[in-house]
Amino acid sequence: MSIFIDENICNGCGRAKEARCVRICPGNLIVRNDNWKACIVEQRDCWTCAACVKECPVQAIELRLPFQIADHDASLKARLKRDKTIWKLKDSEGNEEVFEVPARSSEFRV
Ligand code: SF4
Ligand code: SF4
Repeated sequence: MSIFIDENICNGCGRAKEARCVRICPGNLIVRNDNWKACIVEQRDCWTCAACVKECPVQAIELRLPFQIADHDASLKARLKRDKTIWKLKDSEGNEEVFEVPARSSEFRV
């Protein structure tokens, strides 16, 4: 698994002093380059926690899934809402599946 940052979508978090993906990455693996676009400095050090995927406000970052888990070229994008995360799974044929995960573990309590 790996992440992919689409430079065509990334807006560098505008004028923000620190990009959101840069701030959230626990391994300090993302930087903004000279073009004010996010890029990962060491892909092999990424443990695919997906924090940056969820944090990006314009969905410029996706999680590339291995073929053992999903179809070839399958990917996941996320949209963070106040009470949930909306995940969009896309397969190699462009089919999309959307599913939601509640933000709070308390919602799982009985
Ligand atoms: S959070 Fe998204 S828009 Fe902001 S710098 Fe990172 S990839 Fe670009
Ligand atoms: S998936 Fe996690 S470890 Fe990898 S770049 Fe994103 S925030 Fe950092």
